[in-house]
Amino acid sequence: MSASIIDGTAVARASRARTADRVAAFRARHGLAPGLATVLVGDDPASEVYVRNKRRAAAEAGIADFHRHLDARSAPDEVAGVLAELTANNRVSGILLQLPVPGQLDGPALVDLIPPGKDVDGLTTQSQGLLARGVPGLRPCTPSGVIELLDSAGVTLAGAHAVVVGRSELVGRPMAQLLLGRDATVTITHSRTRDLEAISREADILVVAAGRPALITARHVKPGAAVIDVGIHRTDHGLTGDVAFDEVSAVAGHLTPVPGGVGPMTIAGLLSNTVSAAEIAAAETASTD
Ligand code: NAP
Repeated sequence: MSASIIDGTAVARASRARTADRVAAFRARHGLAPGLATVLVGDDPASEVYVRNKRRAAAEAGIADFHRHLDARSAPDEVAGVLAELTANNRVSGILLQLPVPGQLDGPALVDLIPPGKDVDGLTTQSQGLLARGVPGLRPCTPSGVIELLDSAGVTLAGAHAVVVGRSELVGRPMAQLLLGRDATVTITHSRTRDLEAISREADILVVAAGRPALITARHVKPGAAVIDVGIHRTDHGLTGDVAFDEVSAVAGHLTPVPGGVGPMTIAGLLSNTVSAAEIAAAETASTD
């Protein structure tokens, strides 16, 4: 068998085009574009690149830019003050605090200052709680992108056995919740899991977010399974993932490449969440007028 390769670049491009249409419709209706505030503290080169890419994609979709760059030595109160200011600004639909933050700051505590209605990363305790309860809210971008990729490939989620490798707050846990919300039967595995190979071989859908290069080999995969590789590793030969692509592509039914799989979906999800936040806020304002 040779896996059908899921083209994340194409799926993300289509998603971003839909978002640009929603931005245009929002502008036409409300006279203002949805706004995204990216908050970067310090000068970490990787974070600077991530934020620059997010801002560029947002601008391409027509989203207004409210970027803030704070000094690496900023005190917790200063960052909290900026987040409060952006929260109070009606033109800011979504706020994203780029992680990690410098050591004197408590990243999760600062993220929790973002109200759920503007939490376009879907990472606050409140947003994760809404997700766990199955209540509507803004969902984390990377796991939402994985669901969109599975849908784009026509993979049936309801009733399928989905195995998630990794239990991080950023990917693994919300991934499991989203799959559960789509009626999959979900198993979560992690570094203390005994016999990962046996468990992952049971999966109809295998989502891998372990941060371990080539952790998943052909022996871990049931023939015909859909395998989504969230991992990203920079090597001398370019980017690779958590899945040994060549050997797994001979066994899986569907497979995402790295690069060009999950990666492009994360920014697409951020843009979509920003417009959703703007639409929800506008609807709430209209209903209280
Ligand atoms: P993380 O916070 O380091 O979490 C990794 C998880 O994998 C942990 O739960 C860990 O278990 C588990 N794990 C580690 N080794 C394992 C093993 N041998 N078997 C089973 N589970 C194992 O990483 P993350 O933030 O979730 O990111 C995971 C990967 O996805 C990274 O490569 C990251 O760069 C990538 N990523 C990509 C995107 C994207 O846009 N494509 C977005 C986010 C992350 P314990 O909990 O027991 O330690």
